[in-house]
Amino acid sequence: MTEKLTARGIVQEEPLLWEKSKPGKTGFSMPRRDVDACALDEALQGEGPDFPNLSEVEVIRHFTRLSQWNFGLDTGMYPLGSCTMKYNPKINDRQAGLSGFASAHPLAPQHVSQGALRLLVELEQFLCEITGMHAASLQPAAGAHGELAGMMIFNAFHQSKGVQRTKILIPDTAHGTNPASAALCGFKSIPVRSGEDGILTPELVAELMDEDTAGIMITNPNTLGLYEENLKEIADIIHGKGGLVYADGANMNAIMGVVRPGQIGVDVMHLNLHKTFSTPHGGGGPGAGPVLVREHLARFLPTPRPEKQGDHYVLSDACPDSIGRMHAFYGNFGILVRAYSYILSMGSEGLKNASRYAVLNANYIKEKLKDTYFLPYDKPCMHECVFSDQLQKESHATTLDIAKRLIDYGFHPPTIYFPLIVSGAIMIEPTETESKEDIDRFILAMQTIAAEIQADPDRLHEAPQFTKVRRLDEVRAARNPCLTGC
Ligand SMILES: *Cc1c(COP(=O)(O)O)cnc(C)c1O
Repeated sequence: MTEKLTARGIVQEEPLLWEKSKPGKTGFSMPRRDVDACALDEALQGEGPDFPNLSEVEVIRHFTRLSQWNFGLDTGMYPLGSCTMKYNPKINDRQAGLSGFASAHPLAPQHVSQGALRLLVELEQFLCEITGMHAASLQPAAGAHGELAGMMIFNAFHQSKGVQRTKILIPDTAHGTNPASAALCGFKSIPVRSGEDGILTPELVAELMDEDTAGIMITNPNTLGLYEENLKEIADIIHGKGGLVYADGANMNAIMGVVRPGQIGVDVMHLNLHKTFSTPHGGGGPGAGPVLVREHLARFLPTPRPEKQGDHYVLSDACPDSIGRMHAFYGNFGILVRAYSYILSMGSEGLKNASRYAVLNANYIKEKLKDTYFLPYDKPCMHECVFSDQLQKESHATTLDIAKRLIDYGFHPPTIYFPLIVSGAIMIEPTETESKEDIDRFILAMQTIAAEIQADPDRLHEAPQFTKVRRLDEVRAARNPCLTGC
């Protein structure tokens, strides 16, 4: 007879380090001092910071266990809409870790930083090539930071014409950071309703655009995952009244190598290198949100600007109309190395294919699930698709229940209750890097959950069932955070 000793795993409870602390434990051992104690030691007796007392292995296990509770892209699928949580090839991390890059000092003289400067110049050129824009600054540290730089450029442009425009048009399908960035620059946001089919109509834009409006900020593809098909016509309307067109390009993952925003009337845009160009994100940074402009706006870009002069690379401050510096030194350099490495390793056909697969995967999910979940905009989508809980409402199961139950099936929940124009939205972005097998498993999990709702909706309120902590009171956690394990 063969004995089987199987285990489902070890799930450790993990108290706080302070709760595990015992006086006298230490993580090191040093020889006893061979000099007499002096006054300083005595003065500090019993004082100083309240560090827990633990051995080295206790500290190592504590942090390693916590890291194992984490869920990330290296663990499983993370279909977060409007965020492009895609897998990033490790080769690009490796390049950023090369000592010539990782140890480069921002204050090193330019003649010993030629490689780093060349990378900046060439990355700007690659991003311009991909977007059809004329010039770029890699300084902004996030998408929202790129938007802020873009809005400052809008302002500088209008001021150079001797006027101060006060308003800006922002569609209801824009990302939430857009109105915030515009407000930081003193613009008043004028909301634009999207049409029946989820995209902007030129007629409404024409009605709202006037000579006091600086321009429009369009998220394209928009947060419904739809392509703004009328963008060119809308750009003509905006330009006709002396305004500028801003494109939020954080969702470039859907159109890389397929659409060049610079050729369809976009004047200023940003990219999220930490979404599209191979920097992991979700942990809050660091990131990079380069801002790109058409030719007539290049003089307003942040300084210093990396340039090639003869056969040398320099950082140039010779740009009197610049909006100034957006970041210390030259942005988050390690992120820029990853993007450079990603673009070169993918090549133009590879980048194009990444977008094609991202769009194909989202449409596959949309088609497979549209009989199970309500699809408010039933038309081809870009990199993400938006469902809602409308069909589950009569069973009193909600989007939140569905999202929580997905955790039990091993998936990170998608974005929920966003975009706001879809009540109970479930916004799914599979990205190009998920295999058909994983996407099919995700679809099966979503179908299984819908069947569970029909059979026993109350059980869904209990989800997640297989996690260390069950459903959290998120409002209380936000209002009364308790950081000591109480
Ligand atoms: C993520 C995102 C942003 C904001 O980018 P951050 O780097 O988080 O500031 C802006 N717009 C869109 C469409 C996004 O998806």
